[in-house]
Amino acid sequence: MKVTMIGTGYVGLVTGTCFAESGNDVTCLDVDQKKVDLLNGGGIPIYEPGLTELVRRNSESGRLKFTTDYSEAIPGSKCIFICVGTPQDESGAADLKYVQSAAEQMAPYLDKDAVVICKSTVPVGTNRKVRGWIQAKTDTPFYSASNPEFLKEGAAIDDFTKPDRVVVGVDEAAASEIVEELYKPFLRTEKPYISMGIESAEMVKYAANCMLATKISFINEIANICEQVDADINEVRKGIGHDARIGFSFLFPGVGYGGSCFPKDVRAMASVAEENGVKPRILRTVDETNDQQKNVLFEKIKNHFDGSVSGQTIAVWGLSFKPRTDDIREAPSLVLIRQLLEAGATVKVSDPVAIENVKHQLGDAIEYCEHHYDACDGADVLAIVTEWNEFRNPDFDYIKLKMNSPVIFDGRNLYDRHQMAKRGFTYSGIGLAALPASDE
Ligand code: NAD
Repeated sequence: MKVTMIGTGYVGLVTGTCFAESGNDVTCLDVDQKKVDLLNGGGIPIYEPGLTELVRRNSESGRLKFTTDYSEAIPGSKCIFICVGTPQDESGAADLKYVQSAAEQMAPYLDKDAVVICKSTVPVGTNRKVRGWIQAKTDTPFYSASNPEFLKEGAAIDDFTKPDRVVVGVDEAAASEIVEELYKPFLRTEKPYISMGIESAEMVKYAANCMLATKISFINEIANICEQVDADINEVRKGIGHDARIGFSFLFPGVGYGGSCFPKDVRAMASVAEENGVKPRILRTVDETNDQQKNVLFEKIKNHFDGSVSGQTIAVWGLSFKPRTDDIREAPSLVLIRQLLEAGATVKVSDPVAIENVKHQLGDAIEYCEHHYDACDGADVLAIVTEWNEFRNPDFDYIKLKMNSPVIFDGRNLYDRHQMAKRGFTYSGIGLAALPASDE
């Protein structure tokens, strides 16, 4: 099948490449000429495990192409996926300007009965608007579909090729059948293809992300209480996770969720609620709780220095909003680093892949270290913000040698606090009372 992806970011590039891998003829279109040139030259604009090899193989086979030209990408396409960004506007609602522009630009080139599928996360009612924007520019009949995407950065290829479910919102069964054919290779293990109304499909994506964000804010709040009452969140988590009604997923406390989805999707859902006369009490609180949680490490570090970090050197491990991605959108690391700089600290950072993206935002205000051990050189505190695998089992003796003082504030609970005390570190996690280094 000939397929076009409009928007070649995390979602468009991954899903387009996976469709090409299953034998389709895929064109990825983007307005960003530099991105398209890079892809045509064999480069990859994002870090996503496994993607480079997949893009290379499918480009070489001729099944995957990149362009900025709508007149080249749309004609002959049976399925056109809109995968452009939907950032939040000043009010917190989803900004649909990229979606509208994609709809209007594709319109003149649509084939009869092509399916225009919105994969971008959009508020309920957007697919109807997309239909209107296209119809204002063409008389060609076409189908509309909503197909929310559930992939996670860092595991995007696996998530897309082995989905828990595929959700498609349509008005006509014919459109659903076309989309189902495209997804069949990924649903061979009896995972469901769920066809529903367009508005319901639009709601599914927001409801899913809001539920996950709520779990994170919930466990962070429980962790903060644990810390004050001498309970251990790891023990509490185990105690509740074995309850089949609760489960373990998304119940790891931390320094707040970030990324391009949860923060903006929670706010967009809350805006939709308010526009429709529903008070989004839970969603507003989830968002506020998360914003507060991003301050937790800074507050702890400040308290450690009796209220002032001025003149201290702080090492920060992990910049991306989560491991296995270079995405730093709404990353908790940026909040911490800005607070430290503002308070007069020197900041040394390390991350396996996100340093370049942070340089664009913070320039030479901080020191970038290629190896995470180097960030510890002369540091008074080490703050761990992202749980990259390579941080899980470091050489603690070496870290101790490098640091001015062996103090770790762990925003991801990577280590056992009793062992850390024995190793001679003053160690503080999230939801665990801090332990000073033991004298043993
Ligand atoms: P992104 O910012 O990485 O990529 C969007 C791309 O669209 C950019 O390359 C941009 O240049 C391009 N673009 C903008 N306007 C265009 C136009 N008129 N024509 C062609 N290209 C255009 O965004 P993303 O992370 O891939 O997210 C895309 C959508 O998918 C968003 O709605 C997001 O909420 C949703 N989503 C993202 C994820 C994720 O993990 N990143 C997961 C599920 C859903």
